[in-house]
Amino acid sequence: MAEKADPQSRLMINQDRCDRCASRAVPVCNEVCPHGAIYPDANSNYIWMDCDLFYGRETCRKCVDACPQQAIEIQKVPSPKIKERSITYFETAGIQNTERVIDVISNRVAEGDIKAVVVASCSGSSALLLAKALEDCSVKIVNVSLPKKVWEAIGSRPLSEEMAQRLTELGVICREQHYLDTQTWASGYVNFPKKSLFHDWQIGKEYKVEHIEKILNETLIHIGGMGLKTAVECMFSAVVYGDVAVGENVIGTAGSGWGLDMAAVIRATTPEKCFGKKPSERLEIREILAMPIKKHRWG
Ligand code: SF4
Ligand code: SF4
Repeated sequence: MAEKADPQSRLMINQDRCDRCASRAVPVCNEVCPHGAIYPDANSNYIWMDCDLFYGRETCRKCVDACPQQAIEIQKVPSPKIKERSITYFETAGIQNTERVIDVISNRVAEGDIKAVVVASCSGSSALLLAKALEDCSVKIVNVSLPKKVWEAIGSRPLSEEMAQRLTELGVICREQHYLDTQTWASGYVNFPKKSLFHDWQIGKEYKVEHIEKILNETLIHIGGMGLKTAVECMFSAVVYGDVAVGENVIGTAGSGWGLDMAAVIRATTPEKCFGKKPSERLEIREILAMPIKKHRWG
């Protein structure tokens, strides 16, 4: 009778050991597998493994025994570590959700692993409410508003000096949104530096990022509304200014025009690194804390 596989284990190719059977036309594992479950990627140097047999069923282990590099390993699958949190959904986007968003942020900050809260607040009103709610917490608060010249171009009022002073007295760091390409600020896009590249981890190639910024922009709006897109832009600004370090967990919060209606835990990064080679430096939306169900967008 065939040996049973441990349901808590799985097969993995140790990529450091595997030499892709470079001296052979066909990899040994691909040759011996009776189910076609290991195969080289047609476009890259990668060996795929898709062995359903091993998941708690009888296993053959032919590839394990045949691999000349002992690169196919049986690994114990760790027990899942689960954190259950609720997400606050608002029926509609808008300023009416601000106080609830601040409550949600306060509760999440109390868990102790958040380095900073980055808030998008042009008038500073939302940042002021947030700063008062988090007054007893040691978390850093960074307020990011649109640059003064943008407000002037729109014909509206920038963050007043009085408000900036009140925020500063409460320990809030006040920043203007950092536009990396000042020629395109009005587009509302994330504005990646043109030298940024998108690293495709599957095939190891890099592509210019010019058009990807627009796709990212739209994707963020589709997932979390204008608030999520703006929160990511402001997180970029906070990192570029040096208020937040790459890799830190921050809460980004913003709204769909006025006030706040979205909050998310985001792994901080820069526009240059968010699609880069190092997985630990890429953009991650780690948790959605609050967001509107029906999105609202400008344009
Ligand atoms: S047989 Fe081993 S070394 Fe060869 S491709 Fe497969 S896993 Fe890599
Ligand atoms: S255990 Fe058997 S079926 Fe699964 S990948 Fe290896 S050779 Fe193929």
